[in-house]
Order: sequence, then structure tokens, then C-alpha cells
Amino acid sequence: MADLGFIGLGIMGKPMASHLVKAGHTVYVFDLVEESVKHLCSLGAQRCSSSKEVAQKSEIIFIMVPDTPDVEKVLFGQDGMAEGLKLGTIVVDMSSISPIATKEFAKKIANVGGKMLDAPVSGGQVGAENATLSIMIGGAIEVFEKVKPYFELMGKNIVHIGGNGDGQTCKVANQIVVALTIEAVAEALLFASKAGADPAKVRAALLGGFAQSRILEIHGERMIKRTFNPGFRIRLHQKDLNLALQAARNMGLSLPNTAMAQELFNAVSAQGNSDLDHSAMILALENLAHHTLS
Ligand code: NAD
Repeated sequence: MADLGFIGLGIMGKPMASHLVKAGHTVYVFDLVEESVKHLCSLGAQRCSSSKEVAQKSEIIFIMVPDTPDVEKVLFGQDGMAEGLKLGTIVVDMSSISPIATKEFAKKIANVGGKMLDAPVSGGQVGAENATLSIMIGGAIEVFEKVKPYFELMGKNIVHIGGNGDGQTCKVANQIVVALTIEAVAEALLFASKAGADPAKVRAALLGGFAQSRILEIHGERMIKRTFNPGFRIRLHQKDLNLALQAARNMGLSLPNTAMAQELFNAVSAQGNSDLDHSAMILALENLAHHTLS
């Protein structure tokens, strides 16, 4: 049994860390929200008061916080992990953040004696709860092999992509597919509804053909039932599409439909709804159509 660390116990981190606890490992946890720490401790995790303390006690540390600046704070901020890291400790960042910053973080962690993997995930809250996440990994293969048994407690489709940052690049690609598919599902359901067909029955029929997808299944249902509590917050998807669009601009690459999907998220956010689930992209299309799914 290993001494593990877990920092960031939100929608995703809470169930992911709980799988490590339930497997019998000692898991040192830290989050800025006391309620989340309490919940994990009630399952058997050990409370820490900073990222530094987690680093002092753990052999492998998982991070699951929202954005690039949050990861930077956890690693190199005051009372951050760099202040307490033991020689050879493995830091696994499972948040979805900038691939470029990730390469820099990996170098800085190596300078203080640690080893780093980026290991963002796909599969959402449902995948985190059922330990069926897809995990896409960047970093040295021998470090990946050491962490693989713990990834297997949290996910099913575990793929080593390449060097540091390549896991994050893969995740950005994933987020392009997810955003554009949400947009396609929303347009299709809206079309069917405006034409007078029952969108719930249309979804049920489409689930058996070429239009089948996890997005049609899960997000299509959320659109029809109008259950927009997250899930995956729109502001986090905007963060991911920003990473895609900035990198595309730097590389001289045109991503027209990614830009359009981001504009639809921007329109929903402008109404004060950036904390709704990303399936709420349909609200922007409903406004354009002056028609609500029914
Ligand atoms: P969340 O906002 O629910 O949780 C983030 C947690 O990190 C919060 O509990 C917050 O208090 C904590 N945190 C932030 N800064 C911290 C710090 N400096 N020290 C300690 N704790 C800190 O977010 P989430 O939905 O769990 O997403 C986390 C990451 O996973 C994001 O990068 C997101 O893009 C990615 N992701 C989310 C989903 C999803 O469906 N929610 C799916 C795949 C990937």
C-alpha cells in the first residue's frame, strides 16, 4: 500500500480520490473548501493543511484543480508542493491545463528533484464516479509505468501519448470534439422540436444509428430534461477552447467551428450562466431560434 496525495476535491477530484482510499491506500488530501476535505476524511483519507504538507507525506501526488494558474499555485505558490517535495516524488497533474505551461512545470519539478506526468481525463463526473475515465498521459514512460496501477483505480482507457505536455494536447483535441458534438446535438434536437417532433423520441431513435454518441446520450438527455446543473461547467470548457484557439493561432491553424462553439459559450456566459453544465450551450441556440425545446 502506498502513501498517496490528492489535491483538488471538486466535482472530479472527490470521486477520484475516494477510489484510491477505497483501494486501501493512505491518501493525504488538501482542498481550499473545508466541506470537501471533511467528506474525504469521513471515507478514511488523511487531512493536510497545505499542498506543502501533502508533498512532505506522499510518494505520488495527484492534482485535480480548475486551471493553469491554480496548478502553478499548488506547485510553486506559498506553502506549495515545491517547498515540501521529497527526492523522486511523482507529481501527476490530472487537471486540464495549458500544454505549454505543463512543459515548464515539468522542468521546474525536475529541478527540485521530482518527476512529473500530465494526465488529464475525459468521461466527466459519471466517468469519475464509475472509475471509467479515459486518461491521456504525457511524460517519461518509466514514470507512467509506476503510476499505471493507480490510474487503473480511476479509469479504463489509459493511454500514454508521449512526452510532457502531450497528454494536455490530447485533452485539448478531446474538448474540440466534445464542444462541436454538443453543438450538433443541440441543433438537431432544436430542429426536430421546431418541426413539431418530440425531441425525446428523436433522441431515442438516433441513439441506434450513425448519430449515436455519448454526448447525444448524456448531454442530449440533459437538454431535453433541462437539467443544467454541472457536470462540466461552461467556464471550464471556455478555458479549454481558449487553449485550443490560442495554440491554433500560434501555429497558423484555422479552427472555424471551435471558434463558433466558443462564441456560443460566450453568449450563454453573458447571461450569467457560466456555471451551468456545458450542455446549456443549447440556451444560446434557443435564443437565436426564438424557440425552446418542447
Ligand atoms: P471543480 O471546480 O468542481 O473543483 C476544483 C477543486 O479544486 C475545488 O474543490 C477547488 O476548491 C480546488 N482548488 C482550486 N485551487 C486550489 C488550490 N490552490 N489548492 C487546493 N485546492 C484548490 O472542478 P472540476 O469540475 O472537478 O474540474 C477539475 C479539472 O478537471 C478541470 O481542469 C477540468 O477542466 C477538468 N475536467 C473536468 C470534468 C468535469 O466533467 N467536471 C471532466 C474532465 C476534466
